[in-house]
Amino acid sequence: MLSSCRVPRSSLLTLLFFLSFRFVAAQEDIGESCDNPNLVSENSISEDSIPSLQYSADETNNDDEQKARKAKDFELYFSAYGELYHQKSMLTDIHRMDSYFTAIMANAEAVFKDKIIMDVGTGSGILAIWAAKAGAKKVYAIEYTDMAHNARKLVQANGVQDVVTVIQGTVEGIKLPLKEDGLGDDDNQEVVDVIVSEWMGYMLIRESMLDSVLVARDRYLKKETGMMFPSHATIKFAPIVDEKKRRENSREYEDTMDDWYDFVENTKDYYGGVDYSTLTEAFEKENRNYYFETSQWVELPSNAELAKAQVLKTLDLMTCTHQDTRGIFDSSQNSNESQKGNVDSNTFDFVLDPNEIAVVSGFAAWFTTDFRSRTDDMASKDAPKLTASPTLNTGPEQGYTHWGQQVFYFRNALSIQTALSEARGSPNGDETVVHLKGSLEMFRTKENTRMYQCRIKHFLEEQDQKNQIIRATDPVENIFAIP
Ligand code: SAH
Repeated sequence: MLSSCRVPRSSLLTLLFFLSFRFVAAQEDIGESCDNPNLVSENSISEDSIPSLQYSADETNNDDEQKARKAKDFELYFSAYGELYHQKSMLTDIHRMDSYFTAIMANAEAVFKDKIIMDVGTGSGILAIWAAKAGAKKVYAIEYTDMAHNARKLVQANGVQDVVTVIQGTVEGIKLPLKEDGLGDDDNQEVVDVIVSEWMGYMLIRESMLDSVLVARDRYLKKETGMMFPSHATIKFAPIVDEKKRRENSREYEDTMDDWYDFVENTKDYYGGVDYSTLTEAFEKENRNYYFETSQWVELPSNAELAKAQVLKTLDLMTCTHQDTRGIFDSSQNSNESQKGNVDSNTFDFVLDPNEIAVVSGFAAWFTTDFRSRTDDMASKDAPKLTASPTLNTGPEQGYTHWGQQVFYFRNALSIQTALSEARGSPNGDETVVHLKGSLEMFRTKENTRMYQCRIKHFLEEQDQKNQIIRATDPVENIFAIP
């Protein structure tokens, strides 16, 4: 799915202006240009639509506020997807394209031939067209934005219009023409054999589109034989070294503060003695938040990882629930009911060799998604067995994907020897091992349920050969927004 933050920070103002202009233009279009009979207009989207918004409702019973949130969601989230420019940035992500193409084409016979497919969020229609070319009997391609018009054109131009039906609307609000197509009726909507969708955002769950995919799964997918494409997903996490970027970040923070002080002086000197220094604290907070409390989109080199990445979350797309998509939570709270394959393992423990690693610049997180045969208990023996199981990997070792990695830079580099020398305890001369331990929690913001924050705690622990703790640093906690 779309990434939005590849702009250098210095260009941010230009970008914000550009985006807000484009958002206004897109918002005016909503509701007027939808000519599809299956479209449920924005006003009539039923209460159960867009679960991510329902979760905002947890926080408020105020109808007006709820409506305002929905309007904002449509304005901010969907407008970019209505533009071919943004669709193209996904269509030119080669690893993304190769993974889906292989997953569909190399499983044509085993999974797609003569089957009923649903593409949730078809965008320009690419996955739906591939599914048709892989031999599907019927493909329902669902897209909320006006990109649906382009998808219809592309379907026609590629000669698969008899197989692919593009339906404009939210997947939560549309009605499939099952009766007309002789495939089912209102009582039996579980007719779909495969749901293909490209719903992933930064750190997998940002954008919260998975909520919509789960609504489609629970309403339309055959329970015992249906397939989710992709079928499994993980969020990964590793300590990294990238001092160049971390220093650049700190320098930009300092430069921005220096600019502010110049502005305060100049305004006092040249504009009637007006003193802005009373707002210095507020400006510093804003600036700090921007540079040190926000993760960054980075394409890390493969040697940036200081230890093998650990998995913070695993999802089995057949069985995960709306609760599982809401973040990464304290794993000690994993309930007994949590389905096999859906686990938060939010604590980490990396072993660092202090002879090889001098400093840690921060942490990085990314995701993988897999196309595999079913692994859940609900699957019957007739569930298709995949003949190819590609993985879409957005980690540093993969090279470019438009998702990149989310990097959480420390404000000051963590110098292992210095930190240990200031830590509690004292060395006894024995050979030791250094652990970088801690936890990460990820949760939705109250203001916008498609956006997330991470709370990361970390500390160093030096252990002797018998795993006895010799020295330990105090835990440090930071909260980062994921932009
Ligand atoms: N499948 C395309 C586009 C992926 S981007 C491709 O792989 O190239 C995700 C698309 O899903 C966007 O075009 C977005 O507008 C659409 N989308 C997101 N949530 C949706 C929902 N609830 N109902 C319908 N479309 C949705």
